[in-house]
Amino acid sequence: MPVAPEDPVTRLSGVGPALAARLEKLGVRTVQDLVLLLPARYEDRTRVLPIGALRPGQRAVIEGEVLLTEVVRRRRPMLVVAFGDTTGMLTLRFFHFNARQQESLARGTRLRCFGEVRAGQRGLEIVHPEYQRADGPGGTEDEALTPVYPGTEGLTQARLRQLVRMAMRALGDSLPELLPPGALAGRGLPSLDDALRLLHHPPPDADLAALEGGSHPARRRLALEELLAHQLAMRALRHQARRKPAWPLPGGPLVERFIDSLPFTLTGAQRRVVAEVRRDLAAREPMMRLVQGDVGSGKTVVAAVAALQAVASGAQAAIMAPTELLAEQHYTNFRAWLEPLGVDVAWLSGSLPAAQRRDACARIASGEAAVAVGTHALFQEGVEFARLALAVIDEQHRFGVHQRLALTDKGTRAGRRPHQLVMTATPIPRTLAMATYADLDTSVIDELPPGRGEVRTVAMPESRRAEVITRIREACAAGRQAYWVCPLVEESDQLQAQAAEDTATLLAETLPELAIGLVHGRMKPAGKEQVMRAFKAGEIQLLVATTVIEVGVDVPRASLMIIENAERMGLAQLHQLRGRVGRGSDDSSCVLLYKPPLSPAATTRLAAMRETNDGFRIARTDLELRGPGEVLGVRQTGLLALKVADLARDAALMPQVRELADALLQRHPETVAGLERRWIGAATRYGQV
Ligand code: ADP
Ligand code: MG
Repeated sequence: MPVAPEDPVTRLSGVGPALAARLEKLGVRTVQDLVLLLPARYEDRTRVLPIGALRPGQRAVIEGEVLLTEVVRRRRPMLVVAFGDTTGMLTLRFFHFNARQQESLARGTRLRCFGEVRAGQRGLEIVHPEYQRADGPGGTEDEALTPVYPGTEGLTQARLRQLVRMAMRALGDSLPELLPPGALAGRGLPSLDDALRLLHHPPPDADLAALEGGSHPARRRLALEELLAHQLAMRALRHQARRKPAWPLPGGPLVERFIDSLPFTLTGAQRRVVAEVRRDLAAREPMMRLVQGDVGSGKTVVAAVAALQAVASGAQAAIMAPTELLAEQHYTNFRAWLEPLGVDVAWLSGSLPAAQRRDACARIASGEAAVAVGTHALFQEGVEFARLALAVIDEQHRFGVHQRLALTDKGTRAGRRPHQLVMTATPIPRTLAMATYADLDTSVIDELPPGRGEVRTVAMPESRRAEVITRIREACAAGRQAYWVCPLVEESDQLQAQAAEDTATLLAETLPELAIGLVHGRMKPAGKEQVMRAFKAGEIQLLVATTVIEVGVDVPRASLMIIENAERMGLAQLHQLRGRVGRGSDDSSCVLLYKPPLSPAATTRLAAMRETNDGFRIARTDLELRGPGEVLGVRQTGLLALKVADLARDAALMPQVRELADALLQRHPETVAGLERRWIGAATRYGQV
């Protein structure tokens, strides 16, 4: 029986359960997976190089004769082989060897060896070369570049190469081409078959740099197909989510009254996004929209308009944030904005005392509270909304695609799904957003409210701490407020809280005239809130904090921020932290204190912070430094298990991917299932929600 692409690898001869388990570690389950396992790099073993021409660092094939073999006894015995051709000689060194190997390397044996040349104490050497006997004149040279596959324990490269070859042969032409021929020809891309053959077996003159760098048409072709499969899967998910209708929310005069009552006028960008959101809400289809906007761009008020549109339509809205502190702040804002309009706002968090929780739940269940603000607790067992029609999720990068959809699923009542508005302060380039948020429409608030002061950022070694203290003293004397952000202690909340307490004590000794407050993650929410409220009210002048203040905290009068050990923080985090100042009209400063010496990456981060306040530019640099997987968070993208495509490199393909997805859905819907199975597998990570 011929082998089918989706057969398990155990269908291949000689592949048993043990080997299959090792392959599984490489994400390889089916025969098709095996041929889609692409080399991480290649070695050129097509040419034998003269020993005399070798340079350290080169990976090379050499051919010659064993001149001398001896076992040298140091702490551990070592097999040392002097090896030469007509142009020179070098040493082959083995730390692990057996008697048979020693015998096979007898003087006079002709060998072909491959390995990395390095400079040893006595000239060039190769440690643990791959080798084989090369008897007879001029042994055969490889006629293709040698693929090096991503490795895993217990599987040698030789075995992997053999397995891939076997899989290629077993599949023959039974691996279907799933892209329409027009799509390939028009883009100068090869067929699946040609692409795979080339990638596993490139001719000696193939463009190695393009192959390894991912720009080779064969590789791009596979990346395109893979991104297409993910695009289709996410669209299917969206489609499925949207099959249930939503309550159309036409709004009412209340919304305009709210907008008019604001102490400021909306920016052009806010107005545009508000219009997009309101149009979505008025429709029968559930809105699934992402609002991207830099820190301080004013996303909260957009969420409030959306919530009011629900309320004005006789429905409820839920606003959820990932941390208590952030949720509390939304609660404060929403109450201040909405209660004057006669809207009851409920608060729900995990730490709420039972009686208060019961009360909140009752108001939510009866519909008395038209808006509920809180953490995850909003969507836990026992919370029933009377008529939830809108879920707003703030700071999306902390929630996964699944979580997000599960939330709106829980909110589904009487077959109606709530509209969903997701807000994130990690602005990412358009093409990347296309790849990772294919299930969402996106809106961008690309303008900051007017009248914001400049934020000047400087970086200083911590030896200049005294100067920084003087600056705080002067700023506070002039009626301004300051943040001091304490170093990150990754290992432990406890240590981090301790560090913050120590810093606060020290600063209190140095600056006795100031009212100093402290917040950290180990404090009770009520305690944190009290301190934050005092800071907001100006009763505290200097707030010592851990990175808990990272997201969303809004105190317009704070205009100085010191960040200690800034070299240890990520760029997105630094930018979020800095976003806490520059919210008023005063010019603000951000001082990045660092401990020298700086790593190259830390240097780049601090330089980026000094050079720009633009969240999009920061995000781009961050993406270059860390890659999309890290920046967006593992859970959220669901795209991390990409086999071939690399979001940093291949996001540029996204406009084409979208075009192809449209064309395929229209003209070749029968290929969609095959594409999803090929690239995402049966156990789809997007799953059923
Ligand atoms: P973010 O987008 O980071 O969540 P916020 O919604 O917290 O930003 O807004 C930051 C600050 O800007 C808040 O104090 C908010 O009241 C204020 N703000 C929002 N929109 C405007 C505007 N159009 N004009 C002036 N201030 C605004
Ligand atoms: Mg915010």
